[in-house]
Amino acid sequence: MSAAQPHVRAILALGSNLGERAGTLQSAVADLVDRPEVRLLNVSPVVTTKPVGGPQGQPDFLNMVIAVDTTLAPLELLAHCQAVELAHHRTREVRWGARTLDVDIISYGSVASDDPVLTLPHPRAAGRAFVLYPWSLMDPQATLDGQSVAELAAAAPDMSGIAHAQDVPQGQES
Ligand code: AMP
Repeated sequence: MSAAQPHVRAILALGSNLGERAGTLQSAVADLVDRPEVRLLNVSPVVTTKPVGGPQGQPDFLNMVIAVDTTLAPLELLAHCQAVELAHHRTREVRWGARTLDVDIISYGSVASDDPVLTLPHPRAAGRAFVLYPWSLMDPQATLDGQSVAELAAAAPDMSGIAHAQDVPQGQES
């Protein structure tokens, strides 16, 4: 069924703020592309994001984006992303007690949809530096709804809380 689908470039955003965050992101990327219908095209650097609000001492988020070439239909790709999320949540629920992985579809080709089940492009991506900034590092020419992703990142309110993951002091992984 999905073999009849055209090849589409999709942008996926991943985030984790609990547990072994870097390891979670790494294995989530491996899981996302561990099927023939999804091929990894590009990977962004990992960035850290200061949590806005919430309890004191909450760990920073690690965020990244990937570009994939997929023959999955949009809802098939969403189900696949949610299955990968769930697999990691289940693993972590035992040990860490909370969800540790989010995977969002930021864009799927040029498809636009206001379906609440799968809104495309992702309705909040244009204002989120934790998505836009790593995306701009991965692809400086990227656009979202015709706007420069790098420029959107620079204007995003959470941009000041973003740092490169390699700048994070060692020993912060738990
Ligand atoms: P969250 O828990 O914030 O990751 O939101 C997940 C919900 O958002 C699910 O019910 C999805 O069906 C819905 N959703 C709508 N658009 C998207 C999108 N572009 N990517 C991922 N989830 C989406």
